[in-house]
Amino acid sequence: MKPLGLQKYRRIVVLTGAGISVASGLRPYRGPGGLWEEAGIADLATPQALAERPAEVWRLFGPVRVQARAAQPNDGHLALAKVQSSLPAGAQLCLVTQNIDGLHQRAGSQDVVELHGSAFRTRCSNTACELEAYEDDSPHTNGVPTCPRCNAILRPDVVMFGEMIPAHSEWTVKRALRECDLLIAIGTSGTVSPASNFVRSAEFARARTVLVNLEPMRPRHPAFDEEYLGRAEELLPVLLATT
Ligand SMILES: [Zn+2]
Repeated sequence: MKPLGLQKYRRIVVLTGAGISVASGLRPYRGPGGLWEEAGIADLATPQALAERPAEVWRLFGPVRVQARAAQPNDGHLALAKVQSSLPAGAQLCLVTQNIDGLHQRAGSQDVVELHGSAFRTRCSNTACELEAYEDDSPHTNGVPTCPRCNAILRPDVVMFGEMIPAHSEWTVKRALRECDLLIAIGTSGTVSPASNFVRSAEFARARTVLVNLEPMRPRHPAFDEEYLGRAEELLPVLLATT
C-alpha cells in the first residue's frame, strides 16, 4: 500500500462514518439510513419520541455527549487534519462526517460538514423560535431543559430518524461533489447512503474514488475505483501521507 498522492488533487471530498471513531472508543451513532445495534434506540431517536417522551430522548443523548467529550481523536482524525493544513495553494479539502462526536474538529480540522448534527449542541424544538443552536456540555439526564425564549423543550442538535439533513450541509456537499477530483469515503459502508450517493456524484465529476473500511463492500459498488480494507487509524496515516 502506498500513499494516494494527495498533492496531485485540487478538490478533495472526504466522507467519514462511525468506523473512524471506533479506535477512540465510541459506539456508533448512525442517523437516517443506518441501523442501531441495540433494540429500542431507533424508536427513541425520532421526532415523535421527542414530542412524547423528551426525558427518555435526553437519557439517550446525554450520555452520548459525555462519552464523546471524554474520547480523544485518534491517528485517523489527526491524519485528516494534517492533510487539510498542508494542502498546496488553491487546493481544498471538504470534510463531511456522519459522526456527531466532534472529534474531527478537536483533531484540528476546519469547516467540517456535520451531516447528522453534533452531540455537543442544543437547540430549541420549536422551528419558529429564533434561539440559535449553542454549545452545551450538560447531559440533561435529570430533567428536560426548556427554551429561555419560547419555553418549548430544548433538544440535542442531531438529525434523528425521519428528519432531513440540514439544508446548508446538503448544499455544501452537493457543490463540493460537483467539482471534486478525489473522493475518499472512510469507515462507512460503500454500498448504502450517503456513501453510495456521494460516489455516484463523484463518478459523474470524473473523480478518483476510494473507500477505506474494515469490511469489504458486498456487493461491490461499481463506482468505487479502489477499496482499502483495515482500520482507519492505521491506513490513513499511510494513504494520506504527503511527503
Ligand atoms: Zn425556543
